[in-house]
Amino acid sequence: MSGTRGDLLIVSSPSGAGKTSLIRKLLEDRRLGAGSLHFSVSHTTRAPRTGELDGREYYFVSPEAFIALREADGFLESAEVHGHLYGTSRQEVEPRLAAGVDVLLDIDVQGARQVRSRIPEAVKVFVFPPSREVLETRLRARATDSPESVARRLAAARRELAEFGEYDYAIINEDLEAAADELRAVLVARRASRDRRRERLEAILKTFSP
Ligand code: 5GP
Repeated sequence: MSGTRGDLLIVSSPSGAGKTSLIRKLLEDRRLGAGSLHFSVSHTTRAPRTGELDGREYYFVSPEAFIALREADGFLESAEVHGHLYGTSRQEVEPRLAAGVDVLLDIDVQGARQVRSRIPEAVKVFVFPPSREVLETRLRARATDSPESVARRLAAARRELAEFGEYDYAIINEDLEAAADELRAVLVARRASRDRRRERLEAILKTFSP
């Protein structure tokens, strides 16, 4: 990889807005270039849902292990979300950015705020559901969460959505394909930025030297 650093792409949304499917589509998009985008696997103290694998969706750890890593300054950010601890380890992010790989963080608004204060150039994308009704239907259809958990997530959605002003981009996830195209466009535009291209641009300029 070149000496140019990768970008940090933060994607937040209330749970049920379809962010996970959107992110999956982006990660599967072959046009982006193999290995050029890394999904940051967070640590969490919540229990795995059916089908989730340790090390793929999350590192599922005990509260003791989480707190030990936090005290050792092992997290870029961490927060309590829906009654559980979640955090992005530095190890997951920093070596990749340094290697020129873009890193995608699926984190909540509290985490996004912490990352922004440390890495102000991070690109922040907020995913909106088209309406409250659609969000509620999606949460209930998921059926992996208890009714109490659905109610808690709906209440949280209202608070989370009010934070959209802190984000650079807003994607309304009405149609998954269209929303995925928009998310991809954000990343592609970033890759075309002058800063990301500086090394290549300078090399091209050199070929014009007399
Ligand atoms: P879930 O338990 O449904 O997978 O995720 C619940 C919420 O936690 C989502 O809003 C998700 O973005 C957020 N989340 C997942 N990982 C992290 C993390 O490492 N840090 C923070 N701050 N939030 C996270």
